[in-house]
Amino acid sequence: MAGEFQFKSRRNKKTYLTEQEIWKIINQFFANGHFTTTYKYGLMKALIENLYNVDNRLVLTFDQVYFSFAKIYWNLVIHHDLNQLNTSNRQAGIQKELKEFQLMHGVPNKVVFDHLPSNLQLQLVERTKKVGARYVVGALYGDMEGSIYEFDKRTEYIKFNSSMYIFLQKYRQIVTHLTNYHLAKFLEKHNDKNKLEDVLLKVENILKRESLHAFYNILWKYETKECFYCGKVLSDKRIATHVDHFIPWSYIQSDNMWNLVLSCQSCNTKKSNKLAKSLYLEKMFVRNENLKLTAVHNDFNYYSERKLEALYEYAGMNGYVENWSP
Ligand SMILES: [Zn+2]
Repeated sequence: MAGEFQFKSRRNKKTYLTEQEIWKIINQFFANGHFTTTYKYGLMKALIENLYNVDNRLVLTFDQVYFSFAKIYWNLVIHHDLNQLNTSNRQAGIQKELKEFQLMHGVPNKVVFDHLPSNLQLQLVERTKKVGARYVVGALYGDMEGSIYEFDKRTEYIKFNSSMYIFLQKYRQIVTHLTNYHLAKFLEKHNDKNKLEDVLLKVENILKRESLHAFYNILWKYETKECFYCGKVLSDKRIATHVDHFIPWSYIQSDNMWNLVLSCQSCNTKKSNKLAKSLYLEKMFVRNENLKLTAVHNDFNYYSERKLEALYEYAGMNGYVENWSP
């Protein structure tokens, strides 16, 4: 795929793809051993995190994608101190950029992305975009045989191929695991043993928020103070009231206002990685219609009942235990 990265914009080479064709492309992507950096895995993770932030034309802006991308690399490089060396043993561009940024703003080691002030986060996204947008979007496009999305660097968008989009929803969990596995394997090659403890776990949780407290505050302000599942009156002690991912986090791998509810400790623990009964999906539709109006949160810009319903169905297809109720 020589030189795909140089193009300013590319169209999808083929619009309709069968699942078998996509599996071939995905397998080739992961089997291709010529990775000199982790960027393509990072971008893949960023795309998966944003899968449900597309508009109705399946478009994502570079700002959305690179916010996740910046978060992934900040947490890998600064928080976990993991090298992203390329094969010639030089620092990967993004690592250099992040370390310089850290030094310039006097950010202590180990700080997670979520704890950075929002103006620094936005500056980081801009910088990352400059490093990343230069070629990563085009490189992944090339490796996926021009079938994953189309993109335009001038207007800064990517638009998923619709067959690929359906595929990624359906096989989200497998593709996520594959990406994490290969990213962890790459990191193992380029880091000292003492930094590699739980490396796969670190990669798996790289996009996970330290705390859902900001969401808790919004929910506590606008919602009735009852457990979404069992209806029990919730304690105003923060520790006893949980923020629950209606579609389990391990599947959705992102925190969205429209997927979060308040629950009692017992329901949150017992529900764990399961899908609640469909009557709770109906309840969720109503809840979101109301919360959209009262809480006015950015996450609702990309929300629709159809999306939530699709997520619910695809999580079931991915093997999540269904029909949970308290
Ligand atoms: Zn409960």
